[in-house]
Formats: sequence, C-alpha cells, structure tokens
Amino acid sequence: SDLDTLDVVVLVALLVGTVAYFTKGTYWAVQRDPYGDSLAAANGIAKSAKSRNIIQKMEESDKNCVVFYGSQTGTAEDYASRLAKEGHSRFGLKTMVADLEDYDYDNLDEFPEDKLAIFVLATYGEGEPTDNAVEFYEFVSSDEPSFSSGQSADERPLRQLNYVAFGLGNNTYEHYNSMVRNVDKYLTKLGAQRIGKAGEGDDGAGTMEEDFLAWKEPMWAAVAEKFGLEEREAVYEPVFEITERDDLDPESDEVYLGEPNKNHLEGSQKGPFNQNNPFIAPIVESYELFTAKDRNCLHMEIQISGSNLTYTTGDHIAVWPTNAGKEVDRFLHMLGLSEKRHKVIAVKGLDPTAKVPFPSPTTYDAVVRYHMEICAPVSRQLVSTVAQFAPTEEIKTEATKLGGDKDYFYSKVTDRNLNLAQLLEILSNGEPWRKIPFSLMIEGIVKIQPRYYSISSSSLVQKDKIAITAVVESISKPGAPHILKGVTTNYLLALKQKQHGDPDPDPHGLNYAITGPRNKYDGIHVPVHVRHSSFKLPSDPSKPVIMVGPGTGVAPFRAFVQERAAQAKAGQKVGKTILFFGCRRRNEDFLYAKEWEQYKKDLGDNFIMHTAFSRETPKKVYVQDLMKDCQEELSRLLQEEKAYFYVCGDASNMARAVNDQVVQGIAAFRNVSREKAEEIVKMMRASNQYQEDVW
Ligand code: FAD
Repeated sequence: SDLDTLDVVVLVALLVGTVAYFTKGTYWAVQRDPYGDSLAAANGIAKSAKSRNIIQKMEESDKNCVVFYGSQTGTAEDYASRLAKEGHSRFGLKTMVADLEDYDYDNLDEFPEDKLAIFVLATYGEGEPTDNAVEFYEFVSSDEPSFSSGQSADERPLRQLNYVAFGLGNNTYEHYNSMVRNVDKYLTKLGAQRIGKAGEGDDGAGTMEEDFLAWKEPMWAAVAEKFGLEEREAVYEPVFEITERDDLDPESDEVYLGEPNKNHLEGSQKGPFNQNNPFIAPIVESYELFTAKDRNCLHMEIQISGSNLTYTTGDHIAVWPTNAGKEVDRFLHMLGLSEKRHKVIAVKGLDPTAKVPFPSPTTYDAVVRYHMEICAPVSRQLVSTVAQFAPTEEIKTEATKLGGDKDYFYSKVTDRNLNLAQLLEILSNGEPWRKIPFSLMIEGIVKIQPRYYSISSSSLVQKDKIAITAVVESISKPGAPHILKGVTTNYLLALKQKQHGDPDPDPHGLNYAITGPRNKYDGIHVPVHVRHSSFKLPSDPSKPVIMVGPGTGVAPFRAFVQERAAQAKAGQKVGKTILFFGCRRRNEDFLYAKEWEQYKKDLGDNFIMHTAFSRETPKKVYVQDLMKDCQEELSRLLQEEKAYFYVCGDASNMARAVNDQVVQGIAAFRNVSREKAEEIVKMMRASNQYQEDVW
C-alpha cells in the first residue's frame, strides 16, 4: 500500500468527518452567505421554518423561473442575480434566485413544464462542487436518485424539466468546468431538456465575464423562442427598497454600523465563530518581513485564545476586510451620497425571495465600507445598466458605448484596473451620478469577501496564535490613473502601522477606519475565522516530506518546518524535510531567512533547503529548475520512501510547472512513459501523497 496503517486510519477518520460535515452541507462553507443567520434573525425568520420545497416556494411567490447557484466566492451568485434580473426586465419572466443548499431535489420531477430552471455552477478545487452545491450534486449524480414520487431513473423522471446552464471554471485546472459538464450530463440522462448551449466561463484565461456575456444572448433567444416570450424595453426595477429612517440616529443601539450580525451589534461576541460570524481577534504582533521599493510583506500574529476557534497546521485563516476610506469617500461622492452618508437606512427586499446581503437598519457609510466589494473590477454589464442614470446625455452616450463594446471597454476600463466609482468619476469629471438608485448598487456590486491566508505557524508550537504571511498588493500600471491597492492586505498594513504607532500610519492616504464600527476593533483587532483544510503533514513525523513554496507560497511550510523542528527538539524521530523556495534576491525578499537557520540547527542534516533567486542570476531560476537538478533523489524518495509532496502558491503557472517536473522526474527514474508517469502522479494526488494549497 502507498500509506502506512496509521495514515490510513487518519485518512479514514478525515473522510468520515468530511462526509458527516458535507451531509450537513456546512463543511468549509466559505463566504457563501456571511450574513445568512443574522439576516434571518433580523428579519424575524427562523431558518428552520423556511420551506425546502422549491416548487411550492415558486408557486407561493408567483415565480416561473428560478436561478440556482453553486457559488464559492460569490461570482456565480452574482451571475445568478444578474440572470434573474435580466430575465425579468427584458422578458417579463417572474424570477427568483436560489441558493442550491436551501432546497431539496426529490421533487424535481414535478417541476412544471411551463417554468424554467437556470443553473449557474462554479467548479471548485479539483473538479468538486462548491460547498453549497454538494447535496444537489450528490442527488443528481447518484445512479438512482430517489424521487418522492417513486419514479425511477429509467422513466426519464425529469422529462418535464426545462433548464439552462452556465459553468464557472478555470482551464489551468485539470477538471475544467466539470461541475456544469457533469450536471448537464446527469440532467440530460434523467430526461431533462436543456435550452440553448451550456455555457462555460474561464477564469484561467481571464475571460469569465466576456464568456458569460457572449453565452447569455443566444441563450435568451432560445428561451424566448421556447416559451414564446417577447422581449421588451428593459426598464430598471429596483430589487430593494431603501427607506431613510429619520427617526433613528446612527448611534441608536439597533443601527448596524458595520457589525456583521446581531451578537456583534449587542456588544457581546458569541461563538461559534465561522463564515457567518467572525471573531474580532487581537493582533498581538506584526512586522514587515521585507520592505522593497514598492513591495512589502507582512507577518502578523493573531490571538485566538478564548474564542473556541482552533486550528491545526495547514489550515487557513479568513480575514474580513474593511474598505479604504479613500475609496468609500469616492464611492459615496460619485453617488451623491456624501452628505447623507451617516443617515440611517432600512433596506428591505421588494420581493419575498430577495435577500438583503447585510443587516439593517444601517447607514450608507457602513454598507459601503463593510459590506460591498467596491474596489473590485467593474463589469461591463453593470456599466451598461448604470448608463441610463448618467448625469448628462453626453455621458450616457459614452457609458452606453462602453457597455456595448467589448474591446472599447477592455481598453478603457479593464486594462486600466478601474473600479466602479473611479470609472464614474472619469466619465463625469467628478460630477456625482445622483440618479443611480442605491438598490442598483446593492444588486450590482458583490458583497465583500473574506480573504484566505495559509496559516504560517504550527498549532503544535503555538495553538492559540495564528501567523499570517501576506504580500501587500500594490499594482501600478502604465496608463492606469490609480495605483491598485489590494483591499485586505493594505488594511492589514495599516493595522500594522497603527500598532507600531507609526507617525504616518497611512502612507498611501487610504485612510482606514482602523477602530472599526463603534470602536469595537480598537486596540488593534481584526475580524477573522478559521477554515480547516486537508493540507496536512503526515501523522508520522519520520516520513520524509518535500515542499515547494516560492514567495508567500512558503507560508504553510514555515508552519510545517516549525512543527518538525519542535518535534525533533522534543526527541521525536523526524524524517527528511526538503524545502524548495524561490524569490527575487537573497537580500531583498528572502522570507524568514534567519529562522531557517535555527530550524537547520534543530533538524540537522534532515532539513534541506533549496533556494532560487530569480533576479540574481543572468538566467531566471525557478523552483521547478531546482527540482530538476535533484529529480532523481526526489523521485526515489517519492517511490521508495513514500515521501509526501506539497505545493503552495501560484495556481496557474508554478503549480503546473511543478507538477510537470514531478512527472518528468518519475518518468526518467522509473523508466516509464510520460502517460504512465502522469497516471502515477494522479494516483499520488488521489491518495493525498501529493497535496496542493494554491490560489
Ligand atoms: P484584492 O483587493 O482582493 O485584489 C487582488 C487582485 O485582484 C489584485 O492584485 C488584482 O489582480 C485584482 N483586482 C482587484 N481589484 C481590481 C480592479 N479594480 N481592477 C482589476 N483588477 C483588480 N496570500 C498571501 O499573501 N499569503 C498567503 O498565505 C495566502 N494564502 C492563500 C490561501 C488560499 C486558500 C487562498 C484562496 C488565497 C491565499 N492568498 C494568500 C491570497 C489572498 O487570499 C488574497 O487574495 C491576497 O492577499 C490579495 O488580497 P487583497 O484583498 O489585498 O487584494
């Protein structure tokens, strides 16, 4: 066997745990609906009381089209909302959006023939469904899905179901768009009728948005034909009602000023802390690992004691960001809301199926600062929608042109890294677009997403403190009017500077609300939660490990080496610990340079570090080149000693090149064909001997 007994036991335990969690549908439920519970509570709806019967739900709310989404980072959810809106405004469909997780599918065979189901499905990781689509996927992919009517799969039980499908994937992964491809296959097998082509968006090629836009036009034409729908002049209809509450003061106890949910509002943060409920954690230490010309890298230590949050080496921590004040100001100004920013507003869905993506009552300022991804790239579709609200006819013409012309949009907007407010500002020369309804902004801008970091400390060494290693994103591009500042990493940098009492805590004038809503983050706190991962050291420390982590990809390997060094110091037998690291220059961005020397002392000859400094040699050297130089030894360790192999960092290029190098090494060492070597690597992945933590 490829694994020793102990590992098998651990793997089985992990698997059982995973399945148990999956069936609850909550395991590593990421970012899906950070406000779900609080919202249900705020709206007085007990979560359990909601019906899981989609057919009944559609009937009750008088809908004839449901757009289901399987979403991990919010993009699929955003596309689903856009399809729902468009179906309604252009074709008069009575649409609703539905989280796949919220419904059961055993009555899908009763889905009425005159209604339409749209599936927007992201593929996650190694061809897996997103967390919220796990149960749905299990249902449709099972050999004999059990329908409550008792129909069997042979009877083509879904013959009444008319559906449309779009997938979100990344062609740099092997299982490209496998979710939409498989669901389409299974639905067809069960007799369902697809209308139009199943669309596929490719994040790897950076064409997701354009793929989506190109797919939906012929799809709508096919839907219109099938259901005999007439296209009408699309009139914007708001999804949310915004009521200004003059009776409430922003300091009133019930007003959310950025608190993520009711517990936080009431002042007592209560666990369990998870993707719906962050822990406001103290930052106990923070410093810069390096500061180069226009790049810096942060190390932060975050205290989780007393929170009941736990982690094990290899897990991820999610950081909930706050938008930079500079961008919040720009956004509010461009919408003509500067003077009203602290006015209390109540936000309500005009339709019972519309979910407000943040708690209310709140203020414009709080919504924009804490809940909207206002700095993200602006979509062409949103630009074509806002065009009708331009301050002048001339600006409207230009915005309409941008919305309608893919290449023009690319050169004027995408290529210049503009966010929505920056674009509006350029188009109108700073004059506010007062006619844009705030509801459109809630609909059109995705809700802010927590960002993940591979924990760079060992839970064995410091179980109550989580370390983060993060490069501060700052991108200046020739021709772009603004420097693109990463939302979360610049917020973390500002926190670090504040902690050090930096006289100029905000060198970029980003102006963060460091102390948080009602000063609840004062004393340097940051909202976080932990996501457990399957990126784990072998349970037996004597097993050899090979780790490849250039740049910040080294983060989890600092944790791995820290752990093995501690085990060695404690007298345990620790196996070969090989690390491949790469950066630009030894004296510039060599992360944890001093620490590796200490680990070397603790682990002795068993710790081998290979380094590549790409800017120091005439020819650029990368980690995969270093691996090539010792491919025989690596292949031998993998085969004869069943070494564990780990890759962390850049998903698109590096991880692929490393995979390729391993394949080459194995083919040469075992004297087998490339195909065979690829097969072997696949099996190593399947048995967890080869693990990736890439982004
Ligand atoms: P964002 O604001 O999210 O921007 C990120 C990028 O998006 C920009 O660089 C740019 O390319 C693009 N972008 C944003 N806005 C625009 C715009 N208006 N126009 C055009 N393009 C735009 N990072 C680490 O440093 N260390 C880690 O250990 C680490 N571990 C990770 C583990 C996992 C599992 C994952 C998924 C990611 C990990 N990351 C890690 C990446 C991290 O989560 C963040 O993506 C990263 O820190 C950037 O976040 P940000 O909010 O600062 O930048």
